[in-house]
Amino acid sequence: MYNSILNTPVEFIKGIGPNRADVLKKDLGLFTYQDILSHYPFRYIDRTKYFKINEINFDSQYIQIIGRVISKKVVGEKRTKRIVAVFKDDTGLMELVWFQSLKWVEDNITVGVAYVAFGKPSLFNGTFSISHPEMELYHNKIAGRGNLTLQPVYNSTEKLKKFTLDSKGLQRIIAGLLDQVIPQVEENLPHYILSKYQLCDKKTALLNIHFPKNQQDLNAAERRLKFEELFFIQLQLLHNKQLRQLKFKGVKFDKVGEKVNRFYKEFLPFELTNAQKRVVKEIRIDTQRGVQMNRLVQGDVGSGKTAVALMSMLLANDNGYQACMMAPTEILARQHYASITELVTDDLVKVAILTGSTKKKDRTILHEQLESGEIDVLIGTHALIEDKVQFKNLGLVVIDEQHRFGVEQRARLWRKNTIPPHILVMTATPIPRTLAMTLYGDLDVSVIDELPAGRKPIETRHLFEGQRLRMFGFMKQEIAKGRQVYIVYPLIKESEKLDLLHLEAGVEQLSYQFPRPDYQISIVHGQMPNADKQFEMQQFIDGKSQIMVATTVIEVGVNVPNASVMVIENAERFGLSQLHQLRGRVGRGSDHSFCILMSGNKLSKEGKVRLETMVRTNNGFEISEIDLQLRGPGDITGTQQSGVLDLKLADLAKDQIILSEARNTVIELFETDPQLEKQEHSSLKAHLQKLERGISFDKIS
Ligand code: ADP
Ligand code: MG
Repeated sequence: MYNSILNTPVEFIKGIGPNRADVLKKDLGLFTYQDILSHYPFRYIDRTKYFKINEINFDSQYIQIIGRVISKKVVGEKRTKRIVAVFKDDTGLMELVWFQSLKWVEDNITVGVAYVAFGKPSLFNGTFSISHPEMELYHNKIAGRGNLTLQPVYNSTEKLKKFTLDSKGLQRIIAGLLDQVIPQVEENLPHYILSKYQLCDKKTALLNIHFPKNQQDLNAAERRLKFEELFFIQLQLLHNKQLRQLKFKGVKFDKVGEKVNRFYKEFLPFELTNAQKRVVKEIRIDTQRGVQMNRLVQGDVGSGKTAVALMSMLLANDNGYQACMMAPTEILARQHYASITELVTDDLVKVAILTGSTKKKDRTILHEQLESGEIDVLIGTHALIEDKVQFKNLGLVVIDEQHRFGVEQRARLWRKNTIPPHILVMTATPIPRTLAMTLYGDLDVSVIDELPAGRKPIETRHLFEGQRLRMFGFMKQEIAKGRQVYIVYPLIKESEKLDLLHLEAGVEQLSYQFPRPDYQISIVHGQMPNADKQFEMQQFIDGKSQIMVATTVIEVGVNVPNASVMVIENAERFGLSQLHQLRGRVGRGSDHSFCILMSGNKLSKEGKVRLETMVRTNNGFEISEIDLQLRGPGDITGTQQSGVLDLKLADLAKDQIILSEARNTVIELFETDPQLEKQEHSSLKAHLQKLERGISFDKIS
């Protein structure tokens, strides 16, 4: 990376021939000295702590015990031949067993002598024993010879173990390599940053992450290396952002015109919330600078993102540009189209929709109207990014539900104009701050953190199976008031058949509780033909059915303000963010709404936390933070594929403070020295230049 010696291939390490090098590469992805030194221990064994024999239990991990060998004998024959020694301290007896190196044990382990035995105990024939313990003479250990305090434990694989590269073997390799290269390791962070955040230097960090003398040194090393890891990610993200802004001029929306003004005065049926106003203003400022906007708008379900999107699109129109809005599914696209055409009329702005099911004839007309500029706003699915779709003058792209679209898809939209359009990404899945900073660190982020006034918070209850009749009773009450109810069942690939059976059984019970003709039940699940789905949905939207039984297909989208109850079956099986999304389907009207989480009696600890969290709060951001703590960043929906989350040491669930420090450091860095021209930044500059040679920016322009 920064030191040429660290780029040396692993086969040059003493004791590693081509064969072992091969396994290191294949099994652990370690190619260079640098890689080996960044193969950090995944835990440490405390070698300062001694256990007594009577403290050993089933959970005991690697431990060390001081005792005396009181007997030693060879037992078994041939393949079971082994040496068993009885080891004693003042609390009891245990056994030490060797199957190999018997000769060495015969010669070196002496009855009557005190040793420190180290290993992982297991229970065998009613006695705890350690096989192949590490043995050290007690008086040597006390004299402090070869004393490790925290012993590193490294990830290895079966194959590597065959090549004597188990944790111990890797420890030897790394120790040797450190001895060799440490003098040549250069600091890769500017000194003023180290001192500002009191970070230890690179050499110390590398030594102490592998061979810490005490917990304090280890903590310092970890902190420094986590900071470094996050710092370089942020450096790259913010550098990309800077490059993009230099490279791509943005279309200028420098005036607010008739469309925005008329919409605001004559059409908008409500007062914008302060959060909506703030975000509209952020977009307004961003789009008049002549630099391409790349902004992520996060807002909980119901926070009013549509109005913000619409005002931004009208702003584009006022400046002579077209705008489009892309949704991940046909249902969602239709819903957007419906809610937007409800807010405006044709004489203010011409809005059209394009999806996969748009008929060929209509499509041809649409294409023409787009190219002539007759259409101001186009709403649709990914059908929008087909090459055939050409705009006269596309100035703004709104993307709903970011994580379903890849970077490449975003880039294709950019190409729809010679100057790339502004990009506004909207997500209703609140992302924890740390994830947003990392995943979308090259975007600007706006947050709509306020719900429109008068919205009653959704009341959430957790009921057990035994309370099902109460739940039905409650549903009847609400339906009697003219409300509608969703009932959602989990449908998971691995248990799809069983899940569908549950759903069917549920529907049967429902039909009994809610008989026709007084009640109508709609059913929607992923296995149904599209047309049937549409039909059933429409029944519910039109109020012709009171109950909608569905699998998670309704998670995104559907907006039926009259629905006031969301029942989630087997709620313990859903993830937190999914539960929150589902709950967001109700509470859209002015009525008091409810979410009922049904679960079995047996709940895992995590399942319990999830349900309790849902009952306690409606705040999507708070929920997303807890979700991150519970599941870790890798599992948060849609982020798995992201390479930026491939962190070695840092943990986005735990290292929020370090991440903020790293990001702020980089922001300041680019503010004070945008071109990284200062001497103290030369290594950072070199680092970025190297990366740029790897990934060409032209690819996405
Ligand atoms: P989301 O952020 O989930 O996309 P929507 O834009 O669909 O939210 O808005 C949810 C509902 O709230 C819609 O019925 C919309 O008309 C209404 N709404 C949006 N903003 C306001 C506001 N400032 N005051 C009152 N109602 C609003
Ligand atoms: Mg929406």
